[in-house]
Amino acid sequence: MHSLRHLVLVLGDQLDLHAAAFDGFDAAQDAVWMAEVAQESTHVWSSKPRTVMFLAAMRHFAKALREAGRTVHYTALDQADNRGSLAAQLQADLARLQPQGLVLTAPGDWRVLQTLKATAHSLALPLDIREDRHFFCSVREFAAHAKARKSLRMEYFYREMRKRHQVLMAADAPDQPEGGQWNFDADNREAFGPQGPGAVPPRTAFAPDDITREVITLVQQRLADHPGQLASFAWPVTREQALVALQAFVAERLPHFGPYQDAMWPGQPWLYHAHLSAALNLKLLNPREVVAAAVDAYRAGTTPLASVEGFVRQILGWREYVRGIYWTRMPDYAELNALNAQEDLPAWYWTGATDMACLRDAIGQTLEHGYAHHIQRLMVTGLFALMYGVQPQQVHAWYLAVYVDAVEWVELPNTIGMSQYADGGLMASKPYVATGKYIQRMSPYCKGCKYDPAQRTGPKACPFTTLYWDFLLQHESQLAHNPRMALQVKNVVRLDGPQRLAIQAQALAIRSGQVT
Ligand SMILES: Cc1cc2nc3c(=O)[nH]c(=O)nc-3n(C[C@H](O)[C@H](O)[C@H](O)COP(=O)(O)OP(=O)(O)OC[C@H]3O[C@@H](n4cnc5c(N)ncnc54)[C@H](O)[C@@H]3O)c2cc1C
Ligand code: SF4
Repeated sequence: MHSLRHLVLVLGDQLDLHAAAFDGFDAAQDAVWMAEVAQESTHVWSSKPRTVMFLAAMRHFAKALREAGRTVHYTALDQADNRGSLAAQLQADLARLQPQGLVLTAPGDWRVLQTLKATAHSLALPLDIREDRHFFCSVREFAAHAKARKSLRMEYFYREMRKRHQVLMAADAPDQPEGGQWNFDADNREAFGPQGPGAVPPRTAFAPDDITREVITLVQQRLADHPGQLASFAWPVTREQALVALQAFVAERLPHFGPYQDAMWPGQPWLYHAHLSAALNLKLLNPREVVAAAVDAYRAGTTPLASVEGFVRQILGWREYVRGIYWTRMPDYAELNALNAQEDLPAWYWTGATDMACLRDAIGQTLEHGYAHHIQRLMVTGLFALMYGVQPQQVHAWYLAVYVDAVEWVELPNTIGMSQYADGGLMASKPYVATGKYIQRMSPYCKGCKYDPAQRTGPKACPFTTLYWDFLLQHESQLAHNPRMALQVKNVVRLDGPQRLAIQAQALAIRSGQVT
């Protein structure tokens, strides 16, 4: 047997034939290692759609590698000698394969990086960790950006990225934004009128092939007690499918993405969003090609600038920003709890069994498809958990479990920082809190709900509205220092004693499960 030079480790979210770990790959001397391990679905609780997403994409990628002539040492979840964890599986395989060294693209997950480093170290094996090229901004560049500032704000980072990568910049003035404006956010907050979202294009669906069907059966058997359903699983699990999904999005949805990105409509999970986050996070797509496709649509005159800029901001701005926050703040970031929230996550987050129409729909579609769009995550499920006072680490565990796109580096700052304000204002300049009237403005949910968003106490009081006032009462002194909360705090100061007591009593009823 000839000796193995490099074993290239490929994780479930590193599925790109051109990843840095493959630079210099020599099929005659090198091989690839991939493993499906139960720990990755149980260490963090993982829903059925999320697990199928990862395993189906991994198996298709292993097939593509073999078709490209690369040897792949692959351990399947149901293999008899599966060791159950990344470290144990790798150790067992290294003892058998005896490579001279390991090569790895930098993992997205802090815990996984520590595990792999420790494994290589314990065996005195060289581990060559290469920069992940699937981002516009390296961790080092982000750290330099952060160091130069007293406080971090996404908007300034985003402008820097636009300039550095010359994305949507004016042709005749490379330091000026296209259209004379950096940000079209003010144009991008429309709700649908009473007639609804119109003829929303059907979801770009990919019927499961033999490989994916096998994975679905496996997950149904092995992870039967995990949340989520698989009947409608139709996510892109190969690069080819992801490219089709990207083209369809740009042609059919992007023109309406901007104005309606915050809007919600009952029974309509897909609307004008991209549904590309899982393909991006698993590296089936590169964000550069996604941004380029959107910008091309603007240059071709088929899509308005407000939609393209709004979309580019999500990818070149928010996505890169949260990654920078994650890698410059971990591991402490995961433990933050600035508001000292200690409640347990209500059990109905795992079933959707609640009378609150907005939450029932958002959680229902989450369990059905492993998907909800950003405003449903931030201003429905996230908002409720924040104002209810759920311990942020439990909220984090829920978000990491339920979405097909959930990977820690992007999920954690969105949850701990943006949604739960547990980092005390690093990600968001103020807590995103609102009464039920916000949901009423952005959707028709309240019309079909037994609660009334205008009432904060009494049998018909909307729990969002009650909890909003209770949140302000609880955190009044802390929030008084935040100029962006001044107006809200002023309103709470006006409440008299009996009003305060009534709100607190109603909030207690919600937290004790009498209102669901
Ligand atoms: C509490 C919470 C948890 C979240 N967890 C995740 C997660 O685990 N994985 C994940 O990819 N996104 C997460 N997001 C961000 C965002 O909600 C999803 O990226 C988006 O809903 C995915 O759907 P889409 O592809 O249709 O996105 P679109 O709305 O069409 O947006 C386009 C793309 O922009 C990127 N994007 C948009 N918003 C964000 C954001 N805030 N942070 C990072 N990237 C963004 C995504 O790659 C997305 O595919 C979370 C948001 C919140 C509030
Ligand atoms: S009334 Fe409150 S709980 Fe009901 S749909 Fe509106 S915001 Fe949601």
